[in-house]
Amino acid sequence: MHAELFREIIRVTTLLSLALLLGFLLGRPLTLLFIGLAGYLAYHLFFLNRLLNWLAHDRRSIPPEAPGIWGEVFHHLYQQYRRNRSRKQRIARLIRAFRDSTSAMPDGTVVLDGNWQIVWMNDAAEHLLGLHPAQDIGQRIGNLVRHPDFIAYIDAERFAEPLEIASPLDDERRLSFQVTPYGDGQRLLLVRDVTRLHRLEEMRREFVANASHELRTPLTVIRGYLEALEEDPAVSREWRMPLDEMRRQSERMSGIIEDLLELSRLETGSEEVEGEAVDIPALLARIREAALAMGEGPDDISLEIQAGVGLRGVEKEIYSAFSNLLFNAMHYTPKSGKVGIRWFTREDGSVCLAVEDTGIGVAREYIPRLTERFYRVDASRSRSKGGSGLGLAIVKHVLQRHGARLEIDSRPGKGSNFTCVFPAWRAVPVAS
Ligand code: ADP
Repeated sequence: MHAELFREIIRVTTLLSLALLLGFLLGRPLTLLFIGLAGYLAYHLFFLNRLLNWLAHDRRSIPPEAPGIWGEVFHHLYQQYRRNRSRKQRIARLIRAFRDSTSAMPDGTVVLDGNWQIVWMNDAAEHLLGLHPAQDIGQRIGNLVRHPDFIAYIDAERFAEPLEIASPLDDERRLSFQVTPYGDGQRLLLVRDVTRLHRLEEMRREFVANASHELRTPLTVIRGYLEALEEDPAVSREWRMPLDEMRRQSERMSGIIEDLLELSRLETGSEEVEGEAVDIPALLARIREAALAMGEGPDDISLEIQAGVGLRGVEKEIYSAFSNLLFNAMHYTPKSGKVGIRWFTREDGSVCLAVEDTGIGVAREYIPRLTERFYRVDASRSRSKGGSGLGLAIVKHVLQRHGARLEIDSRPGKGSNFTCVFPAWRAVPVAS
């Protein structure tokens, strides 16, 4: 029990005992007990009234002086009030500092509620998107940034990757939009001007494409002469081996150049393609024949096909992606191992191509990097097969252009599973 309450009980007991004693002496015990109780009640009502006045009117001021238990009540309430006030001031200072720093950021920041309505924006968002807080706060962002890709981006609710589109104010500028959901259904929209990055990326692509294109012709000439020399009986025996090595290396160079050209062609049209119906069972049968003819890996490739299901897409690109996966499986699996192809539909309707092998596998830490250009876990092994290190980068781009993704599951010494997952709407019926 609180000490002050204990003292109050002592006080009231003493008061009532005295009133009773006096009552007995005067021969009116009940009357004096009643007077004592009424006085006690009046005392408390008086301080209760002061408390209500203080709470209602001037809580900021020092609380009124009061004796006993009321002094204690006033003191505790006042302490609590001061604690809350300083906490509120701290939070307000923090929010002000956060808003000031976000306002000063070069990137646009827009706070959106669960209905995509604007709650707050910083100066950069106003400039980048041409928004005006006075009239646009409370508007839905989709009514102000009307680019169809942006509308599709927020409708799809897939925010792992940012969206890059032309600025709504100036076609020459490129903006990157990234939505981050937070709190209770709220979203933070970050807008960055990526014009410079976009131009650099374009320059890089053009440079690679031009350089590869320029290298193609001289290399064809060199290869032609090498072939002619190899067939020439006048060339002495000691030149046979170096000539053979030169021819193989020039073939490798040609392979790299062709892959670079294909990659830059895939990168230029980065938007998703519609394509036509491709007979995947027939295409897989062809790729299987080509892989068996490589003369590497196991003697057989198992084929598990869901008949009658094809894919809407670009046949040449799909051939390139699937064959890269199968050729890799053959190269990285010993003759005694197993390689298999599966074409199937998942429960959610997505259509998948899985290439499975029991080959050397890849350690978990390398998996995220496999689709980078020129990335190889074991460069010498890749080179020995004439690999360019661009195969999986090509696969990734082809899949991106088809709205698909690559799932990689692999364990060193056990084998790998590369699965291409296509959205359900790409599945089409085909004859085979
Ligand atoms: P490369 O021409 O080197 O094969 P890729 O881009 O096709 O280039 O593959 C990148 C790297 O991924 C390879 O160098 C290899 O280390 C690894 N890799 C790809 N497929 C497999 C597989 N089926 N089994 C084991 N490792 C693989």
